[in-house]
Parts: sequence; C-alpha cells; structure tokens
Amino acid sequence: MGAPGSGKGTQARFVQERLGFERIETGAILRSMRNETTEVAKMVIKMIDAGDLAPPPLVAELVIGKTKEILARGNGVVFDGSPRTLYEVEELLNELGKDHVGKIMAICLDVPIIDARERLLIRLVCGKCNTPATNSKKNCERCGAELTKRKDDDPEAMENRWNEFKYRTQPVVNYLDSLGLSEHIDGARPIEQVAEDVEKVIRKRLGL
Ligand SMILES: [Zn+2]
Repeated sequence: MGAPGSGKGTQARFVQERLGFERIETGAILRSMRNETTEVAKMVIKMIDAGDLAPPPLVAELVIGKTKEILARGNGVVFDGSPRTLYEVEELLNELGKDHVGKIMAICLDVPIIDARERLLIRLVCGKCNTPATNSKKNCERCGAELTKRKDDDPEAMENRWNEFKYRTQPVVNYLDSLGLSEHIDGARPIEQVAEDVEKVIRKRLGL
C-alpha cells in the first residue's frame, strides 16, 4: 500500500523476484483493456486515464479470480494496486480470510507527498514490460524496449490520483492497521534499503 509514487510497483517486483510470489498488477491489467472494444473497457480506460480509480466491483472480481488461480498453483501472491478501496479490501478478506488467517499482510510505504510527486513527474515506464525508470534513460534496463510516459502521470491526472488515494485508499490503510495486518516502512529511503526491510518484515510475519 502507498500513495502514487511511493514505490509500490518497484517493491512489489522485488517481492516477486526475491520471495517467488506471483504479482497481480491491477493497473497493468486494467491498462491492457485499451486494446479491447467493449463498452466496459472503454469506460475503464477513460477513468484511469483521468486518474480515477476503476470501478471497485470490477476490480475486486478480477483480482479475486486471479488470486484463486495463483493460490491453486500453491504460490504466494503480492498485490500491486488493488485493494485501493474499502469495497475491494473487504471482498478480498471475505474471500480469503478464513483459509489464510495469519498469512495475509499489508506493507505500507510511507513517503512524504513532496517526494512522491517528484518521483511521478520524472517517471517513465517500459512500453513493453512496464518496468519503471527515470527520464535519464532511453530504454528499459530489463528488456531494452522504448520507455514511455504513463497517461495518468500528467499533472492533472496526478492530482486526481492523489485525491483518490487520500479519500478512498487511505481508509483502506487505516482499516488494515485496525486489523493489525499492516507493517509501515519508511519508503523515502533508497530503493534497495526499502526492499531489504520489505523482505525482512514479510519473512518475519509469514514465517518464511
Ligand atoms: Zn521492458
């Protein structure tokens, strides 16, 4: 969990690599709907380009479906994106809660707003594999494809994403805190340091 620009995606990738979890990147799944012609897909793309959150029931259904597939394979899941609303977190916990008590945790990356904004303004992503990069580079360090700017990283859409975080996602963080499911990590430090702490708290809490 974390505000836009807090480094969630980057850290979720580390969790995927270092702990062997499968990652559900909600944003990428939704953005891939750009190639579809259905009315639902068109609506979703319009919303996310504007920096609004996609409809929670749609996201919840999608994420729960993917989660079940991954768990059936016997793998761990790292959620990168959803749950971003109370609806999504409640649905997810209802679905998984009973069978996975003690195996669910949230990591909250705490970053001052000003740092997170700065990160988003200079952020580019790989057009092919979605790996983030700063604008000092031209090609993706992972696959070599060309870097592009995400549509929802323009200043106006960013403002919306900030408000969505503040009014709809922060309550999710508070809810997870109240359930004792969350660990807070200072996300303003260098990526590698944050990654080490993330791995440490996951291993400790889940007994890995
Ligand atoms: Zn790439």
